[in-house]
Amino acid sequence: MRYDLAVVGTGQGGKPLASDFAAAGKRVVVFERGAIGGTCVNVGCTPSKAFLASAHAAGRARRAAAIHVHADVRVDFPAVMERVRGVIDEWRSGNERRLAEPNITLVRAEAAFDGPNALVANGERYEADVIVLNTGCSAAHPSIPGLAGTPYLTNENFFTLRGLPARTIVIGGGYIGLELGQGLARCGSAVTILNSADRVLANEEADASAALERSLREDGIDLRPGAKITAVRHDGTCFTVTLADRTTFESEALLVATGRTPNIPPGAVDAGLARDARGFIAIDDHFATSLPNVYAIGDCAGQPQFTHVSWEDYRRIKAILAGDRSRTRSDRVLGYATFTEPQVGRAGLTLAAALAAGHAARAVTLELDAVARAIEWNETNGFFRLVVDTQTDAILGATLVGYEAGELVHVLIAHMEAGGTWRTLERSVHIHPTYAEGLPSLARLLV
Ligand SMILES: Cc1cc2nc3c(=O)[nH]c(=O)nc-3n(C[C@H](O)[C@H](O)[C@H](O)COP(=O)(O)OP(=O)(O)OC[C@H]3O[C@@H](n4cnc5c(N)ncnc54)[C@H](O)[C@@H]3O)c2cc1C
Repeated sequence: MRYDLAVVGTGQGGKPLASDFAAAGKRVVVFERGAIGGTCVNVGCTPSKAFLASAHAAGRARRAAAIHVHADVRVDFPAVMERVRGVIDEWRSGNERRLAEPNITLVRAEAAFDGPNALVANGERYEADVIVLNTGCSAAHPSIPGLAGTPYLTNENFFTLRGLPARTIVIGGGYIGLELGQGLARCGSAVTILNSADRVLANEEADASAALERSLREDGIDLRPGAKITAVRHDGTCFTVTLADRTTFESEALLVATGRTPNIPPGAVDAGLARDARGFIAIDDHFATSLPNVYAIGDCAGQPQFTHVSWEDYRRIKAILAGDRSRTRSDRVLGYATFTEPQVGRAGLTLAAALAAGHAARAVTLELDAVARAIEWNETNGFFRLVVDTQTDAILGATLVGYEAGELVHVLIAHMEAGGTWRTLERSVHIHPTYAEGLPSLARLLV
């Protein structure tokens, strides 16, 4: 049977695209080899943030002692994880309902390429005028001697946990390791983070890492930067991780969070699908792959690995397929957040990236201990930074580290999307006393 559209993967971009095409009367086939809804709903953003809701509530309750509120904190970990799984189920069934449309054929199997323009799944062959790959990424499994075959955790099985591990070793100091590691520590596990880089969140600015490290240590986390792991062993109960300097660490649980690798459909490369230098599906500005009428969106296409990016890719590919060539993979201000405490909210470029891109860039920084709300709430660990173009006054980027900074950074994202300059921000009257009040104060440092 021939379809108007084939979508491989039910991630953040693929689902709404399939649903919109079906609603417009097109015949659509959707392939999903795993759980409907992809990473975000099942093993990513949704469960991790539901988990952090409990973990951060515990952390905040303990931190309240500094402002003379003393709580006896007890985390019912099995119940926390039951709630997380309940939230996953709710979202997943919502996603399943969205795909239950008469014009959508849902194939619950892995799709493989059979030549450049056809797919096979469950022994059946499918042809479509347009194929959109939304296959996402999977947790990377590093080749550490002894690791394979042990019952280690990744984000893919973390949310099946029922009991709290007394001790947890986290391998990886990126956002997934930090969010889940801080979450476990706040739930009561003794957490060690083994990080091959010399600081956590090594892709962010050094003072963002430093603020986060202060907070992680306050939570009792043992941070080991520059850790070179040489062996992992599991004796049936306990993990032992050995470093190059022969230091050993023991724990009941081991969480591996060392990055994510793209899911490439079987047969795709043989059919001529090109990959970029990092192994992701190579696409042009309009999401077109090297195969005719085959497009790729979201994580698998090397886009910044965020749900809102994959979802925004859907809006762009939909417009592009309707003939609007003005939409491209990069016509947006990129923002994202790390949901540790403090949070790291980012928009656009850092100073280093702006200078490297040739901008006449300048940055100003306001420490949070100069913001009234932060002092009043006793949450002064962090800073606000603004990067501007000194020739055009354009806001090029921002790094906000602090309490709920992932919310606050949208002020900058909106300014940037609207083409506002730092002068507009400087003139804005923000409410006293809020964290947001710090943003015009930050811009005033440029006057
Ligand atoms: C722990 C964790 C926390 C995260 N937190 C956040 C966050 O707070 N905010 C944020 O923006 N992002 C977050 N992310 C990232 C976010 O989840 C991903 O960027 C987003 O889900 C990517 O979606 P996607 O549409 O590209 O693909 P995915 O959602 O990964 O979907 C791809 C789907 O394709 C299916 N598939 C793959 N190959 C085939 C095939 N050959 N045939 C059939 N089906 C196939 C897979 O089973 C999967 O269901 C997090 C990720 C993780 C792991």
